[in-house]
Amino acid sequence: MNHRIDSELYHELAEFGARDMEICMQCGTCSASCPLSSGTNTFPRKIYRYLQLGLRDKLLESPEPWLCYYCGDCNKDCPRGAEPAETMMATRRWLIAQYDWTGLTKRFYLSKAWQIGAFLVVALGIILLFYVAHGPIVTGRVELNTFAPVSWITFGDKCMLSILGALLLANGFRMYRYIMGDMKPPLLLYIKEAKSFILHYLTQKRWRDCGVERRSRWLRHVLLFSGYVTMEVLVVAFLSSFQTDVIHPLWHPTRVFGYYATVVLMIISADMMISRYKQKEDLHRYSDFTDWFFLILLFMTAFSGILVHFFRLAGWPLMTYGTYVVHLAIAVGMLCVMLPFGKLSHLLYRPLAIFLSTVKEKASTASKVDLTDVKAEVGEIFLSCMQCGSCTSVCPWNQISSYRPRQILRQLTLGTGTEQAVEQGVWTCVTCNACGANCPRGIEIIDVIRAVRGLNVSRGKIPESLTAPLNSLKDNGNPWHGVGEKRLEWAGDLDLPAFKPEHEYCVFSCCTTAYDPTNRKAGRALVQLLKYAGIAYGTLGLEEICCGDPAHKIGAVELFSELVGKNTALFLRAGVRKIVTTSPHCLNAFKKNYEALQGAVTSEHYTELLDRLVGKGQLKPILKVVRTVTYHDPCYLGRQNGIYEAPRRVLTRIPGLTLVEMANNSENSLCCGGGGGGAWYNTPRSQRLGALRVEEALSTGAEVIVTACPYCVRVLNTAVEELGVSSQIAVQDLAELLLQSVMMPDEAHIMERVALEYDLEVCHA
Ligand code: SF4
Ligand code: SF4
Ligand code: SF4
Ligand code: SF4
Repeated sequence: MNHRIDSELYHELAEFGARDMEICMQCGTCSASCPLSSGTNTFPRKIYRYLQLGLRDKLLESPEPWLCYYCGDCNKDCPRGAEPAETMMATRRWLIAQYDWTGLTKRFYLSKAWQIGAFLVVALGIILLFYVAHGPIVTGRVELNTFAPVSWITFGDKCMLSILGALLLANGFRMYRYIMGDMKPPLLLYIKEAKSFILHYLTQKRWRDCGVERRSRWLRHVLLFSGYVTMEVLVVAFLSSFQTDVIHPLWHPTRVFGYYATVVLMIISADMMISRYKQKEDLHRYSDFTDWFFLILLFMTAFSGILVHFFRLAGWPLMTYGTYVVHLAIAVGMLCVMLPFGKLSHLLYRPLAIFLSTVKEKASTASKVDLTDVKAEVGEIFLSCMQCGSCTSVCPWNQISSYRPRQILRQLTLGTGTEQAVEQGVWTCVTCNACGANCPRGIEIIDVIRAVRGLNVSRGKIPESLTAPLNSLKDNGNPWHGVGEKRLEWAGDLDLPAFKPEHEYCVFSCCTTAYDPTNRKAGRALVQLLKYAGIAYGTLGLEEICCGDPAHKIGAVELFSELVGKNTALFLRAGVRKIVTTSPHCLNAFKKNYEALQGAVTSEHYTELLDRLVGKGQLKPILKVVRTVTYHDPCYLGRQNGIYEAPRRVLTRIPGLTLVEMANNSENSLCCGGGGGGAWYNTPRSQRLGALRVEEALSTGAEVIVTACPYCVRVLNTAVEELGVSSQIAVQDLAELLLQSVMMPDEAHIMERVALEYDLEVCHA
């Protein structure tokens, strides 16, 4: 579902001849004009989009460029004057280069010298071979088979075609891998649809649908193809009758077919060259060198072949032998350069693309999500979506890949989604709520995503990476496979008393604080600060279990209710009135999803409490922390609960500390990717939001990323490690940083006095 953005793609395609990518405004007129664009394979607009966004993977997995037959209908109505047919052509060239593992195709397309050079090397090699290894030269009469024994030529033919065929098939296999991706349709489906490959290979039937006036181009191409295939069959399968020293009668099949193939190849390749030269039909405005080179070589192959025949009929031995060598040099040179590495490779790629897209279409199952079920879960407001795309444009995934919540809503509403787009698509979301916060219709997109996830879970369709945290929640009461008895280990030797009703606060430690080693320090710092501030606090200790946020966001509804029930009973039984949470996710769950607690128990995130304590002077940040820091707003603290200022106020009260903001801050903060199950989801390393956020933090010049969420601490720490930037930037929880500056009340008093006396001394001096 996710696709990496590659800024180089645009430039690469420009090298292959794409000229107008930047002027396309995605109106879709071209797709509407294209006679071959269909509901499932819409183009060429889509291809422009991939090019504009740098979606390399999407382009590689697209069969569409091969489904276009370059009729040019799309060129006529573009309001921006773009020529989509040319861009589709350039994309095909680029694709051929991507399929080719040797890298030669790219060299040939981008350099005439390489292409001509490679041809000349092969051609001269053939001439040299004949020079050193020809048979006896009979000059009294034409004995071509003595000069070039048929058995040698047949052997050479077979060797060459095996090598070139293997190279082409290897590239075809790469094309298959790109197009099919992770999809694994049953073998039977491939076998059943093989007919489409054969049919389109032999007839290029699809081209006939390219508008009535284009049929002549289709016919020309079919004739050319028939000539080419006829010639191949004659020289590979029937060479012993085709290359004989006996002159067959005119009606002999080898002569009839030989003449047919030659005439067709010569006339049509000449006509195509004239058409390119005159640019009739408004096409071929930007012929690539290879287009010309191929037609010239094809013409020359046929022409030199018929010359050999005429010289033989005329009884001119030396002219026959000499022209024969030249003919073979051109033919072999052309095949070596054009079949696996150039224009001729479309012989395989076009029918293969049609075949694979047919298989793909038949294998992709329609989404089974019932709109009624989603409505029952989240109401009907999402049906008011006006497809403005604001959600998609702010979704953080679109900074490194492509993800479209707008499309999920559209497909859900219209019932046009596939399992891949809807059921699988919802797992990518990290529930950061950037979309919901920016939706002009006030649609809570996360709720819709969660509802679809819930339906997935009820059908047992959960990504493998998310089953582990869910199982652990069931078995251990936490998502990290942590042992219940070790839940308090994080506190070490700190004074963490058991909660009593007379305590003002119940400290609720997130499972990530409890079991993730990178978060222990943060939890311990909070407890120390509460102690310094003289707060009466306690913990439910080993009785604590997960707040249920991961289960809720993954869509495991029953499990979440179970955890809510257990926690609610625990809090009420223990006489808890105020909860202070280490995680904004716990805060969010208690505030929004624990109905039975509303009115009885208040919940607060620790940054709010620390802000108050610092404000009232119960905590005095006195020691200088000379650091430049940047604050990463956790989504569940900021966008979900509107807490932006409290943590910033605390930071600005720390002496010596400089707070710099990232470009995306507060309401526009970029998600680290840890929420909504993201902490466990198997996201490829190159596509992690955490890395994006660390890079943004680095660009501010900060030495520390301060945050206030255990998921963020964990994810950002991992990103710092993976990027190898731990010598440049560190990740710290806000409580840790504050602790560095805060002294116990007595010590603070002394420190204040010392500081004051020092200032006075400086003043006197
Ligand atoms: S018609 Fe032109 S502007 Fe519109 S989508 Fe096609 S190429 Fe882009
Ligand atoms: S050239 Fe023809 S087949 Fe290709 S995209 Fe344009 S209209 Fe469609
Ligand atoms: S922002 Fe809202 S209205 Fe716009 S496409 Fe997304 S869900 Fe629909
Ligand atoms: S919640 Fe965040 S990740 Fe999910 S769709 Fe919305 S913006 Fe994208």
